[in-house]
Amino acid sequence: MKIYPIETGNFKLDGGAMFGVVPKSIWQKTNPADSNNLIEMSMRCLLIEEGNRLILIDTGLGNKQSNKFFSHYALYGDFSLDASLKKLGFHKDDITDVFLTHLHFDHCGGVIEKDKNGLLIPAFKNAKVWSNDKHWKWATEPNAREKASFLSENILPIQENGQLNFIHRNAKDQMGFDVLFIDGHTEKQMLPIIQYQGKTIVFMADLLPTVGHIPLPYVMGYDTRPLLTIKEKAAFLNQAAEHQFYLFLEHDATNELCTVQHTEKGIRLNSTHQFSEIFT
Ligand SMILES: [Zn+2]
Repeated sequence: MKIYPIETGNFKLDGGAMFGVVPKSIWQKTNPADSNNLIEMSMRCLLIEEGNRLILIDTGLGNKQSNKFFSHYALYGDFSLDASLKKLGFHKDDITDVFLTHLHFDHCGGVIEKDKNGLLIPAFKNAKVWSNDKHWKWATEPNAREKASFLSENILPIQENGQLNFIHRNAKDQMGFDVLFIDGHTEKQMLPIIQYQGKTIVFMADLLPTVGHIPLPYVMGYDTRPLLTIKEKAAFLNQAAEHQFYLFLEHDATNELCTVQHTEKGIRLNSTHQFSEIFT
């Protein structure tokens, strides 16, 4: 097995929305805001090469939305999914599986493209796309709070193109890695837990967006069930500290990986790493 981090681009979100009830005077120490109160975010995906499968976990937000839409998210930097794959000698047509942690646009937008006639077409034409039945139902009948994050043009064509597959509760047989189901951020978000080079990597998606979000009450304002997030975070981070899991951060603009530790104040950051420092 070989694993590669895949940068798909950077964007910015409102720092207050990203930290819920935590005051700016505190969160700005770890996640400094610009003059519009926006903080820097990455959309860092993971590529797993295993046997004849090439599995992409999440896709970034893609490139089919309007300039007006993109302007709300202050895209910056030079990363793109195509360029990151090319650097490794891969092309989108080589991808056999796209595993979507959840269907918010910054995680799945890249799975559907627009052709020159404006038709919505698969970006990964040889790939199965993986979600789960409960999340799919949740995303296709969205509540008012998440409606702006579940864009139908990112979601419905996956099924119309015949690419949609569901992960069962025992995911290992389907994907070759375990999956942790998490309900605080949205219904049945899926976090891959991957054994690699004698260590455990967990793809944190929106359970832990940045290292600034490690203390338990530091929960995004976007979460649908914040008290449940705190419970899920506590259970997971305790395990992560005990077993020294490497936490892969999709949204941290600086740090690709971190580990956590038990302290008198609770779970805190232990170390940060670039992927290539830990894994060859
Ligand atoms: Zn999300």
